[in-house]
Amino acid sequence: MSRLYFDANATTPPHPEVVETVRRAMVEDWANPTSTHREGQRARFRIEEARREIAAFLKVAPGELVFCASATEALHLLIRGLHPALGSRPAAVFPGEHSACLNPLRDWLHVSWLPEVPEDCATVVQMAASNETGILYGMPPALDAVRIKAGELVRIKDCCQAWGKVPVDLADCDAAVFSGHKMGGPRGAALLWLRPGLPWEPIMEGPQERRRRGGTEDLPAILGLATAVRHLTERQAMNAALASVRDAFEAEITSWGRDIEIIGQGSPRLPNTSCVLFRGRNGEALQVALDLAGFAVSTGSACHSGAVKPSHAILTLGYSSDDARSVLRFSMLPDARPDEVEALAAAIRRLT
Ligand code: PLP
Repeated sequence: MSRLYFDANATTPPHPEVVETVRRAMVEDWANPTSTHREGQRARFRIEEARREIAAFLKVAPGELVFCASATEALHLLIRGLHPALGSRPAAVFPGEHSACLNPLRDWLHVSWLPEVPEDCATVVQMAASNETGILYGMPPALDAVRIKAGELVRIKDCCQAWGKVPVDLADCDAAVFSGHKMGGPRGAALLWLRPGLPWEPIMEGPQERRRRGGTEDLPAILGLATAVRHLTERQAMNAALASVRDAFEAEITSWGRDIEIIGQGSPRLPNTSCVLFRGRNGEALQVALDLAGFAVSTGSACHSGAVKPSHAILTLGYSSDDARSVLRFSMLPDARPDEVEALAAAIRRLT
């Protein structure tokens, strides 16, 4: 039986050209980019070429990008690296933030939840799009007033779910992170973007990445990421076209007169994501039943899967723990077809 995958916000299959880029790089460009011999210099050249290409796409300077192995790593480097200079002042954080942001903030002396922004706030962390609900968020308004009063204020944007699905703008932030495997890129490649002059210190020592992230660069993954970025505009257009497919799916499943609610339906959302509350039903049991029926879906953030804990991102929106345990997330790959989504809806109807 063929399987249908509706868990694109957890990870995506690499684009075929990405697979080829990674394969070739593993065969041809395996040298250490720090080595000074010709092989090493060729590897170094390939990395810098990839950096320039990605930087041009993001409209930032190449030297502002740091290659990391994952967005989780990038967020830890970023937040822990700001801590020595700023950690005694409060951080203001979106409460539905990914655990990859929340965990490194544990070192911070004070953390308040957005929309509250303390007047001596040192950093604001806001995801551009929620991995669970797909809701899009902007930076909180009026941060300039805080900046003038408090001095340095670093605005951090987590773009992991946004890029490749909706346009990403870095004009209103000072640092951002991106993950390769959420947009047809390879695992093992992610980006940290730092506006020059931030009060930031590296915490992984080593000569690589201009001493900002030690460790031999994963050249195949970095080249694969650049290849994926080349397809990002096309990917975003494909994702945009999914909004009508997603809306038809939501119209169908809410037309049966069962207690089904679409979380975030009234808000601007990622076009590929549908976060559904099946009130009174066990989300995990439904996810397993759908899995057995051939559909890969998620009970929320992949990082929560396997744990019975209700998702904090759903609780934050004011839902009860029982409701949070009744939520399934359906996230489509860019090439999802209407008939596949109809098959998913039919399976849900049979199983609820
Ligand atoms: N931030 C968001 C919004 C995410 O959805 C994820 C992955 O689920 C991450 C950060 C972590 O990304 P990575 O898997 O590259 O560590």
